[in-house]
Amino acid sequence: MMEFHYELDRDNRIVDVDEAWCAFAAENDCESLTRDKVLGLPLAPFLAGWNVMELYAAVFDRVRARQIAVTIPFRCDSPNGRRYMELEIAPRPEGRLHLTGHLVRSVAHPRIPLLDLKQRRNSQWRIICSICRRLKMPEGRWLEIEEALDDPYAIPAEGLPCLSHDVCPTCVAMMRGLAAP
Ligand SMILES: [Zn+2]
Repeated sequence: MMEFHYELDRDNRIVDVDEAWCAFAAENDCESLTRDKVLGLPLAPFLAGWNVMELYAAVFDRVRARQIAVTIPFRCDSPNGRRYMELEIAPRPEGRLHLTGHLVRSVAHPRIPLLDLKQRRNSQWRIICSICRRLKMPEGRWLEIEEALDDPYAIPAEGLPCLSHDVCPTCVAMMRGLAAP
């Protein structure tokens, strides 16, 4: 059962992580991370996508203000399957937060090389939602990756595109709802 823990100070700087968090972050970043390297760093660079930190920060502020834990569902798919996860954000004294990520369930599917960060990429870019992992298609549609693979836009004939992160409108609405007063 995958579960990781980390703690933030009032400025969303990382003040504690466990081994599982380091392994989880490295898996999503292709970079080896140790506890010593990340303590004191802001969380923002570890969240993929330009507006993702803003959405999380609003939820964090609500947890601090209300002193009530909030749970964010998210996906962290591997090339071999969907991984449905949850991030619980719990208040601690002095504006600190304790965050627990855990696997809720996983569903295997045939291997999807697009999700394998070690695969060679071409110079094209496709956008994936950093929370629900759906792929942004032309005309602003967001499709589950397994459905998108039937469309040549998802995997151009030239090979695998690079993936960039954003947040889809559904997840923006969910995060804003969790942050609402
Ligand atoms: Zn989404």
